[in-house]
Amino acid sequence: MVGLAIAEKVSEENKNIFLIEKHSSFGQETSSRNSEVIHAGIYYTRDSLKAKLCVEGKWLLYDYCKKYDVPFRNCGKLIVATSVEEIEVIKGIRQTAIKNGVDDLQLLGRKKIAELEPNIFALEAIFSPSTGIIDSHSLMKQYETNAVNNSCQIVYGSEVTGISKLNKGYKITLLDADKKNYSFTTNIVINSAGLTSDLISEMVGITDEKLKIMFCKGEYFRINPPKNRLINRLVYPVPHQNMEGIGIHVTVDMAGGVKLGPDVEYLESNNYNYKLTASKQEAFFRSASRFLPFLEFDDISPEMAGIRPKIQKPGEPLRDFYIMEESKRGYPGFINLIGMESPGLTSSLSIAKYVDVLIKNII
Ligand SMILES: Cc1cc2nc3c(=O)[nH]c(=O)nc-3n(C[C@H](O)[C@H](O)[C@H](O)COP(=O)(O)OP(=O)(O)OC[C@H]3O[C@@H](n4cnc5c(N)ncnc54)[C@H](O)[C@@H]3O)c2cc1C
Repeated sequence: MVGLAIAEKVSEENKNIFLIEKHSSFGQETSSRNSEVIHAGIYYTRDSLKAKLCVEGKWLLYDYCKKYDVPFRNCGKLIVATSVEEIEVIKGIRQTAIKNGVDDLQLLGRKKIAELEPNIFALEAIFSPSTGIIDSHSLMKQYETNAVNNSCQIVYGSEVTGISKLNKGYKITLLDADKKNYSFTTNIVINSAGLTSDLISEMVGITDEKLKIMFCKGEYFRINPPKNRLINRLVYPVPHQNMEGIGIHVTVDMAGGVKLGPDVEYLESNNYNYKLTASKQEAFFRSASRFLPFLEFDDISPEMAGIRPKIQKPGEPLRDFYIMEESKRGYPGFINLIGMESPGLTSSLSIAKYVDVLIKNII
């Protein structure tokens, strides 16, 4: 998602752009295993890249979807307080959001909540009108189409296996789909490799404990029909401490499906473990039934899993996106994007703009 958005933007004014992808098509990893929510930018630390790029990115994304007919729905989201203590928490969330430039949040009482979502339980709630959902596959397809129309060359089925710094620029070694090695040189490298972006950075010689990615799995359960029809929009509980995740929430998708999740599980090693854990059903059910009183245990089934590329260690405070042109470390023209977890989808167009400016400053 992020690599394609950057490829589209950078190829508007530059020639000889190559996008290298190890799989045979786009979106085989995190970008097709997420909640597909256009986030409003409510929770993030003031002045962080996450806060700024999310707020800018959501408006860019809504405009882009309208311009290119990418399916989306500006359905809005409720953040619900199910206890007296949580009422204070949602009021605090509203204050953080205002500092981030999200000034459209509305505090709702029970009557208003019942008008929007008659089947949920909440004492009070915040309504975020600028939150929405999107068909992320169509979005990536559009990024790809526009990049190719700008003469960007997309090389699928080729894995970057080595990067070495030259006197000027970098030598990139690839392993292609026929298991043959080849290499080329370039002045600028943009590392947008998601779950393995720390390894790509290490290939060139940048080792930094703070940029080590930990795989953090998030599993989803679906609400089976017909009860999926009892919810119309996104409904979130109050987030976890430290924002490791934003709580098992309810997401609706463009096809009418309704999902619970994702939970937060740091994996012991960085394995692509997308296996679903049926035994988590009890925990999902208990967590969601606090605000979905109609839910019965058998109404949910395992759906899918995604993996967050976390640079935030368990228990640490929220970490920001790491987006850096690495001249200060002695690697001019090497641009790292590491820890591109949520809201990476929402921010993809603003991230692309940000990287484009970094490149303009180099050229
Ligand atoms: C459970 C979950 C829920 C989420 N929900 C949301 C949400 O609702 N809204 C939101 O805004 N964001 C959400 N996100 C975050 C969002 O999905 C990510 O920020 C975004 O998809 C990251 O895109 P990316 O292009 O950086 O990474 P990726 O999709 O991982 O792409 C990186 C690409 O690099 C390729 N690659 C890696 N190494 C190499 C190599 N050596 N050679 C060649 N190619 C290589 C990979 O094959 C991959 O295709 C969620 C994430 C998760 C895990």
